[in-house]
Parts: sequence; C-alpha cells; structure tokens
Amino acid sequence: MSGQDNALDIAVQQLDQVAERINLDPSIHRRLRRPARSYIVSVPIRLDNREVEVFEGYRVHHNTSRGPAKGGIRYHPDVTLAETTALAMWMTWKCAVVNIPYGGAKGGVACNTKVLSRGELQRLTRRYTSELINVFGPQTDIPAPDVYTNPQIMSWIMDTYSVSVGYAEPGVVTGKPIAVGGSLGRNEATSRGCIFTIYSLLRRLNRKVEDQTVAVQGYGNVGYHAAQIIHDDGAKVIAATDSKGGVFNPKGLDPRALARYKEENGSVVDYPGADSITNEELLEVDCSILIPAAMENQITQRNADRIKADIIAEGANGPTTPAADEVLFERGKYHLPDILANAGGVTVSYFEWVQGLERYFWTEEEVNSKLKGIMDRAFDEVWEMAQKEKVTMRMASYIVAVRRVTEAMLLRGLHP
Ligand code: GLU
Repeated sequence: MSGQDNALDIAVQQLDQVAERINLDPSIHRRLRRPARSYIVSVPIRLDNREVEVFEGYRVHHNTSRGPAKGGIRYHPDVTLAETTALAMWMTWKCAVVNIPYGGAKGGVACNTKVLSRGELQRLTRRYTSELINVFGPQTDIPAPDVYTNPQIMSWIMDTYSVSVGYAEPGVVTGKPIAVGGSLGRNEATSRGCIFTIYSLLRRLNRKVEDQTVAVQGYGNVGYHAAQIIHDDGAKVIAATDSKGGVFNPKGLDPRALARYKEENGSVVDYPGADSITNEELLEVDCSILIPAAMENQITQRNADRIKADIIAEGANGPTTPAADEVLFERGKYHLPDILANAGGVTVSYFEWVQGLERYFWTEEEVNSKLKGIMDRAFDEVWEMAQKEKVTMRMASYIVAVRRVTEAMLLRGLHP
C-alpha cells in the first residue's frame, strides 16, 4: 500500500481513537468515518505536442455541517482518491479547531507539474474546474492552493468559474493573486500561523526564539516562509530539504538566499557553503525545532525514536503516523499537530473569502493581527485540553474539533 493510501487509514484511525476517548455518539462516529461525497473526473487536455492526455482528478467533501466545503487542490503524481479523502477529513478538523465556519474538502489531480508547460497547466486547471463547475461555488465549495498549486492556478480557477456564471466571482476560490481579489498575507499565512503556534509554545516553556535552531523539511511555500519568518525573529535555520535532497549548516543558513538558489537551480541541493543532507537525515538533525512541511508519512515507527528536536511543528498535512505519535509523546516531545499548526492557511483563506464576498479589502496588519488572535486562542484551547485530559496535543486538537463538528451535526439533525 502506498503512503498516500495509508493516509486514509491513518485519518480514520485518528477519528476512531478520539471517538473512543470522548465516547462519541456512534451514529455521529459512523457518519464521520466516511466522506459526504466524492467526485472522480477525467481531465483530458491537449498537450503542446498536439496529443491528448487524460489525467484523473478528484474532489472530496468530508463534512459540511459547519459551513461550505473548504480545502486545497493538490497537483502531484501520487494523488489518489484515498489520499484526497484523508486530506478532506483533516480539513474538517482543521476548520473546527480554529473555529472558522467551514466544512472539510480536498481536491487533486494526479499529474507531474514539473513536466507540464504553463499552457498545459492552464488547460488542465480550466478543464478540471469545468468538470466540477456545479460543485464549486462561493456558498458550496471553495478551493485553495495545496502542494504544487499556486496563486496563478487559483486565478485560472476563478476565471473559469467567472466565465461560466457571467461575472467576476472572487468568493469561489482563495489563495488568489492580490490583483484579482486575493488577500494580503495569504501567501505566508500557513507559515505565519505555524510560527504563532510555536511562539505560544515557547512562551509556555519560557524559552526564547533567539535560542532556537530549526530544521525545515520541504522548501515550498510553507517551508520557505516558515524558515524566513523564524530566521527574521532571531532563530537559526540550520537545515532545509526539498524533494531532491537538502543542505545543512550548523552555523545557520540564509533562508532568502537559499530560496533564490532554489529558484535558479530547481532545488536547494548543492547550495554553496553547506553540507549535503537527505530528507531522512534532516528529520534526525540535532536542532530544537523540526518543521515537517512536505508530505505525509515522514515521521514513522522507523525513525520516531531518533528525532532529536524537542518541538515538532507540522506545517505539512499528515507527516506523522499514529505509532510515531505515541513514541514522541513517551519521549516527552512537544508536538504541534497539523490540524492546529498549519491551520493559518485556511484561516486567512477564510479572511480572503469574507473580503471577496464583501468586496471590501483589509490591510496586511489587520489580516496578520486577526490571524494571530485566532491561532493564539486555538493554541490555548488545545493546550488546556491536553493538560486537563493528559493527552497529546493531537488528541487534544481532535477532542476540540470533533466536539464542535458533533455539536453542529446534532443541532442540525439528520435529514430527512
Ligand atoms: N491546502 C491548505 C491546507 O491544507 C489550505 C486550504 C485552504 O486554504 O482552503 O490547509
């Protein structure tokens, strides 16, 4: 079984564990174990060589009791329906932990963006959107960026939808460029939110950011901005990797220079003045904060007992398996789970959606201070729950989230 399919088993297992812990109503539990609806679409496009290639696309709504379906779209060769379902489920909990009025969704197309031209990528995005034109909508399902999708792709989704309804509709998608109704601060929001949760933790532990050393797995939007923000605040970023490998320098790396190097060379690999390091080695680097910001299934039973960082902040979705969670908990690690630590992205997506619906836009300071308010409150609620119940931060986040979703489901009742 591939790591991607395994993600769904893990997501369901996490739900089962919290259900047992909080004595969840079995009828609610039964409903939450499955997605509300799943779409599989064929995405045929004409390649630049005039041949037609057919890609497979998905969109899954896990639960919409608390609001419209919300979640990103992933373009990756390993995307499957099962993985998309797991990611949709995690979106339900994520939106509930930070208490924004959305249900959980995710989408994806199994494709390799590295071999597609800009024209091919645009045709793929427009056709995927067209296939789901009756699914997407500002009141029903609002996509956003995820792995290997970006503001330009969101702009094509916005345009395809707008052409179909006959007017510009910024509320149909988030993570758009500013010029077409995006929000200031959205691009860095996942990282900023992740850093806010780390700072809340450092305050509780009476530690200073200047004393921290940081390793970042994944140097995409989330990993890069996290490195840059924490570096600017005085921490030392000592290791970073991307899908091809990475670099390590105990004296510290310059996150911006590293990003420029990646831009020019396609990878952080062989960045001058640093040692080479693999993705596996990065996870075991001697540092105080580890930020997995790449893919699922990175910290597993195989390596959990070798993780040296004592703070793990999950910028990625699903980087740690339940078995590894237990090992890290027993070893006394401070573990900020994905549904809390990376919820800043969807939180600012929510701000972008609100601004788009009102056609009234906020300053970057407003966005960032409202994001801080939401992340700090969510951290405090989860922290108190973890102390009270003597459970992991992940279990505490799930207790908060599943209770919120359950309350909405019970209040709304079962239709018909
Ligand atoms: N793809 C991001 C996530 O996993 C953002 C989702 C959104 O903004 O809707 O949280």
